[in-house]
Amino acid sequence: MKQILSKAVGIDLGTTNSAVAVMDRTDTDIVLHEDRRATTTPSCLWKDPRSGELVVGRLAARRVGTTPAPIRSIKRLMGRPDTVRVTDEDMTPEQVSSLVLAEMKRQIQQDVAAWDSADTSWEVDRAIVTVPAYFDQPAIEATRHAAEMAGLEVLDLLHEPTAAACYHCWSHKTDNGTFLVYDLGGGTFDASVMRCTAGAFEVLGISGNNMLGGDNVDAEMARRLQEYLVEDDYAFDLDLAGDDEDKIRFAQLKFLAEGVKQGLSAQDLFMFRDSGTVRDKDGTPVIIDRMVERAEFEEVARPVVARTIGYCHEAMELAGKVAGISLSDVDQVILAGGSTHMPLVREMVTRELCGPDGARCAEPVYEKVDTIVALGAAIRASAVGGLRSHNPERTFRIFFRGTGATGTTKTRVAGRAEALTADADLDGGHIRLSTAGYDDEADLGPDGVFGFSRVPVQAGAESLLAFDLYDGEGTRVMSTVRTVTHDDDLGIDGGETSPPTLSKSFSLQVNRAGRPHVKELVPATTLLPTRAQFSFQHPGNTEQVLFPLYQHRRRVQVIEVQVPPSTPRGAEISFDVHIDAQYLITVRGAVGNTEFDAAVEKAPPRPEPTRAEIDQLVSRFTNAVMYLKAGDHAVAQAKWDMTMASLESAWRNNDRVQLEHDLEELEFVIDSLAVVEITLVPPKAEFDAIVTECREFNLRVRQAAVGTAITHDEQELAKSIDAQVDQGERAYRNRDQRAYGEAIEQLYGILRWLDGQYKKTPEGKDNRSEEERVADAADAVGHLARGEVMRLAESKGRADYVREITEIIRDLAECQRDAGRDTGRTQTRIAQHQRRLRQIRDVLVSGAHDVDSLPVDATS
Ligand code: AMP
Repeated sequence: MKQILSKAVGIDLGTTNSAVAVMDRTDTDIVLHEDRRATTTPSCLWKDPRSGELVVGRLAARRVGTTPAPIRSIKRLMGRPDTVRVTDEDMTPEQVSSLVLAEMKRQIQQDVAAWDSADTSWEVDRAIVTVPAYFDQPAIEATRHAAEMAGLEVLDLLHEPTAAACYHCWSHKTDNGTFLVYDLGGGTFDASVMRCTAGAFEVLGISGNNMLGGDNVDAEMARRLQEYLVEDDYAFDLDLAGDDEDKIRFAQLKFLAEGVKQGLSAQDLFMFRDSGTVRDKDGTPVIIDRMVERAEFEEVARPVVARTIGYCHEAMELAGKVAGISLSDVDQVILAGGSTHMPLVREMVTRELCGPDGARCAEPVYEKVDTIVALGAAIRASAVGGLRSHNPERTFRIFFRGTGATGTTKTRVAGRAEALTADADLDGGHIRLSTAGYDDEADLGPDGVFGFSRVPVQAGAESLLAFDLYDGEGTRVMSTVRTVTHDDDLGIDGGETSPPTLSKSFSLQVNRAGRPHVKELVPATTLLPTRAQFSFQHPGNTEQVLFPLYQHRRRVQVIEVQVPPSTPRGAEISFDVHIDAQYLITVRGAVGNTEFDAAVEKAPPRPEPTRAEIDQLVSRFTNAVMYLKAGDHAVAQAKWDMTMASLESAWRNNDRVQLEHDLEELEFVIDSLAVVEITLVPPKAEFDAIVTECREFNLRVRQAAVGTAITHDEQELAKSIDAQVDQGERAYRNRDQRAYGEAIEQLYGILRWLDGQYKKTPEGKDNRSEEERVADAADAVGHLARGEVMRLAESKGRADYVREITEIIRDLAECQRDAGRDTGRTQTRIAQHQRRLRQIRDVLVSGAHDVDSLPVDATS
């Protein structure tokens, strides 16, 4: 009877193409599925109208430009409520993707079947599927669901850039480095800054656009072709919004455009010939015979590539904030995705991101860009998925952790044994391991966990480890084998299982001081699982409140809250949002002491975009940028213009998905302008108050110094104050928190210096005893607590802070009494209280935990 063995596989479910790979039996090399030299499979589905057969891959892709049309680029719709028409039936994006995944599973099954022997048979049951780093939560969930529908246990949904970096490290045998992964596929662009330390990957910065890729280049090139055809007197005045036949004609042009694009990647001139693929509106077969130069094509492609460079800088900016990393810290720029075959991409990436002013490499890494993601996923799958073995009856199974490749000759073997049916039991059982020169037993721990350490393996060779599993009664219930290969020169083993990173921040839209305000709940690059809290005041007059939860500018979920009817208006409703490692969101809420579970539902689809909506955005943007300084204005304007151009093209092509996406991008540009304005801390009034204090104190010190030996150059100091005021004002206008904070620090420094000067004068001399000084300090801090901070806490309804401040006031009174006794320690206590009070004040003033009012579009 055969043992059933399985290793997890890596699948790159791409917009245009998918690929699948698995680490070989010995975990020392990667098997990439290949079919007639092709290492990728079009992510394309077609249903034969006659036989009803569902066809996936190359055969389906051949149907492009025919009716019924095959389904392509389904990845763009993942997580959306849309369905697509597959010949005669409607399917969800998840269903279509699950068919593609099932095909990938079938393909790699053929490869692993080659490892079958007389007593083992291999199967594919588990996978790591990759997703763009820039996918939002509904898209991620839909991908997981699709893989499950395809009969795969999903071990992880790995970010594509992480997979690419993983392969790079494995193939270059390195386990340290900082990388910028530039992934331009058919329909998505991701820029990710990754750091690998001792084999563990960290995502430091992410940006991108999941509606930007080779497809956009094809669409633009198709428009160019259309112009040629009109010039050549073909009837090609297409109505893409209304006429279905014209839509097919345009799809055919796009198909031809893609051919031109690919041809021009290999050569500078492309002889573009086609006869009969397309017919014009009069039914005349179109004959094309034209020389296209690369320069001409690049004119069309350049705006798309330029947009990607902007996203790379955004990802770097985030990495700067998160980890203080700049482009000069990046060791390699790694290219991934089919569109990086375009020479223009490599040229622009080299010029804009590498070399003296950029990353440490002279040019980007251009290796296996079509399959790098699947290869990396396979490496990770092997590390995470280990090896799983079932007995022939499938009543027991043993899972071996990690890979079967090792760099040492004394290795550790660990895993878990499981009983799979109700009448099978492993309680009190043990497992026996035998190999050349070694024989040992290990008891099964809780959950069947076991481990053997220092198991000898043959140097530079493959060793066979035999296992026998025994139940509590000492009966052998299963036997299996695992090979372990020793190799001194092993690369990394696919990295640690680093926790997933949130790529797009979650936010809520709220009303703050009467203005719409985007409140960030969980920032990007947060590691999952994570939790966040927020609270709102009950608006009254309603028993149901809906809080839309956004990712980027897309409403992804809606939190539904049933408010008990007796809740008074203005009562605080607090929430605890939990996002698990699978991106599943759960929310607990509380009104007073009453806790409840809030329902989290999929957000409803967005209404059809209208021209009026776009015009309104344009005027909001114009108003918002007016207040920006020239440099920021130019940056925002450039981003706006690029997105607007893409939106106009989507409008012309009647591409609803792209249109919605670009609208969201435009809204995001506007939001980011507004958000910065609000979040500078401390508020400007406080800055002004410090300035006044500096000026008044300066005057007072001069007066106190008159007739003494102390020289106080009031004018010189006034200049220093003015310089800081200038910097602070400028920073405030530019919304530059760092420069603003620095100016305030400097002003505090001036105040401290003035205080020192003042104390040297007879007027400022401190004649108090140490005890009196400590007591006075306690009194002054008590004053701060009772006054400003307590008032703030009360006005914001923060009962928790009120309690804490009351406790501080009580202790300060005690400090006053203790002043004479343990002076040093009492001073420390007072200083701690002062720091804490300032912290509380900053939080309350900055509104970091502000009680917001109802979200702008909460409906009831
Ligand atoms: P991917 O999503 O990574 O499979 O990339 C698919 C995209 O790569 C499509 O837009 C293809 O047109 C594009 N692509 C594939 N090969 C080439 C090539 N040789 N030159 C330019 N673009 C290519």
